[in-house]
Amino acid sequence: MEINSLRELYIDQLRDLYDAENQLIKALPKMAKGATSDELREGIEEHLEQTKNQAQRLEQIFERFGEKPKGEKCKGMEGVIKEGSETLEKDMDDATKDAAIAAAQRVEHYEIAGYGTARTYATLLGESEAAELLEETLDEEKKTDQKLTQLAEQINVEAVEGSDGEEGREEEAPPSRARSASGSRKKRAA
Ligand code: FE
Ligand code: FE
Repeated sequence: MEINSLRELYIDQLRDLYDAENQLIKALPKMAKGATSDELREGIEEHLEQTKNQAQRLEQIFERFGEKPKGEKCKGMEGVIKEGSETLEKDMDDATKDAAIAAAQRVEHYEIAGYGTARTYATLLGESEAAELLEETLDEEKKTDQKLTQLAEQINVEAVEGSDGEEGREEEAPPSRARSASGSRKKRAA
């Protein structure tokens, strides 16, 4: 497809974002299922609901154009999701798996870049309502990114601590070594 105006480029970007959100609506439940930290799982589930809203906001923008939001494949998001799921297929302990899921933060960075660009195009094109909707989503992505940073700070430490001991260490550990953070984790599979 030839793109010969900023408006077309803008619409093209919005279609790309719409496809990215829809890919995430399918991928996030799998990530949530894989998480063993309650906080991480709940965070992902919460973001899934936001993601559904984000897709609806894009539909709202397209309604005003009288066009359809479908028709563009976001290959970037496809690649990011694929890499993440390939990592999770590898054999790893629960804490490391959570660390890998928290690394899905790159999804948020990718979205932040996309929404930042689209919002700027909307503003330049005088589409103030669309710019506001895109800004709302952009804020949600940024907040999710920050939340994942906070979670990763705790999860990555657990992954490091978990990797220097043999399996079954948790059962053998005296009560004084039990950490509160691991209390929020589902029981380790034997
Ligand atoms: Fe999103
Ligand atoms: Fe997101």
